[in-house]
Amino acid sequence: MRILVQKFGGTSLANPERRAQVAAKISETVSHGYSPVVVVSAIGRSGDPYATDTFIKMVSSIYSEFPKREMDLLISCGEVISGAVLVSTLQSLGLEAVLFTGAQAGIITNNCFGDAKIIRVEPGKIIKELEEGKVVIVTGFQGVTEDGQITTLGRGGSDTTAAALGVALNAEAIDIYTDVEGIMTADPRIVEDAKILEVVSYNDICHLAHQGAKIIHPRAVEIAMQKNIPLRVKCAFTDAPGTLVTCMQPDMSVGSDIIGDRIITGIAHTPNLTQIKIDIQNEENKSQAAKKIFKGMALADISVDFISVQPENVLYTVRDELADKALNILKNMGFEPEALPNCAKIALVGGGIADVPGVMANMVEALAESGVEILQSADSHTTIWVLVTKEHMVAAVKSLHQKFQLGK
Ligand code: ADP
Ligand code: MG
Repeated sequence: MRILVQKFGGTSLANPERRAQVAAKISETVSHGYSPVVVVSAIGRSGDPYATDTFIKMVSSIYSEFPKREMDLLISCGEVISGAVLVSTLQSLGLEAVLFTGAQAGIITNNCFGDAKIIRVEPGKIIKELEEGKVVIVTGFQGVTEDGQITTLGRGGSDTTAAALGVALNAEAIDIYTDVEGIMTADPRIVEDAKILEVVSYNDICHLAHQGAKIIHPRAVEIAMQKNIPLRVKCAFTDAPGTLVTCMQPDMSVGSDIIGDRIITGIAHTPNLTQIKIDIQNEENKSQAAKKIFKGMALADISVDFISVQPENVLYTVRDELADKALNILKNMGFEPEALPNCAKIALVGGGIADVPGVMANMVEALAESGVEILQSADSHTTIWVLVTKEHMVAAVKSLHQKFQLGK
């Protein structure tokens, strides 16, 4: 059996016309001799009647402390609705399809409601249906605990479902269908001349996704990479080839021209961050003060980023919505924190950054030329980050894209 996993996002399933196009893609896959396992997200985006955010708002507008277990039960319905509708679209084309929830598909997770991790996949039922010639539709973004509780996998979780099924079924490829023609050098909503990347390494995409490129969930890339299953990001509405994500290294023969030549792969951005600054100049034991700060954040489940500990101060960022909570904790500890809300992190990602001198110089020059102030910076061997104000975010992404000629 030649298995292909095909994942369709919410916008690809948003209306009957789009669902007809999706069904046509699935039908084409069958006609090419593949057995498709189709993973679906909930229909539409925030504000649409059956979107995940709509379900969340329905209950949280009444009671903000809605229990997590019941929230997962509620939001798992969005994918069930879209899956059932897609089954009917496929049946109308004469294709026999069967719909499985995450639980029925054998996606076993831990019990971390709202952000559960897949611990294993038991694909026996899916294989049985495929052997009978049916198209198997699986609701994305959800699983079940060992003791039968429904869980959800967090934002972008349908990508993770697709990757986990691809690995468990030893699929020929995992195809992520979305509303753009592939992974681009930057978010096309910000950079009009962003270029589609034809071939890219798991590592580069993983970094871009971790840095905020919304196109694919980083966990999905990590899972596919473990078993070296090719990931392809494609458009649900065109026949464009899309982006192939694979394990290629610069020194490997396949694609060496493409990846080897590239210093920068792309730019990602993360808005809605608050920079927190704590003066520790007068602290007797500065390491102890830093330890106290980060322990306080960890105990409150506040994830921190862009950390810089210096003799004068401790700097880090948190998501805007967690800033008040973080500041209260710090004040209760006796610190006098300063906060700068509405910041954005811009990340320049590329396997070649470490080997090429002058990348930082060019970055600083580009930002200065477009009047963008750098609030903080950091780097690793594959990424350079800068923190800027939200007002400067678009200008920063555009100017870096141009400076490094990523649209060419
Ligand atoms: P889906 O509902 O199909 O999962 P998403 O909204 O999660 O779709 O992802 C697709 C969107 O990701 C695109 O519409 C695009 O605006 C955004 N995006 C962000 N960064 C990139 C990038 N580097 N390349 C392509 N798209 C990107
Ligand atoms: Mg998505």
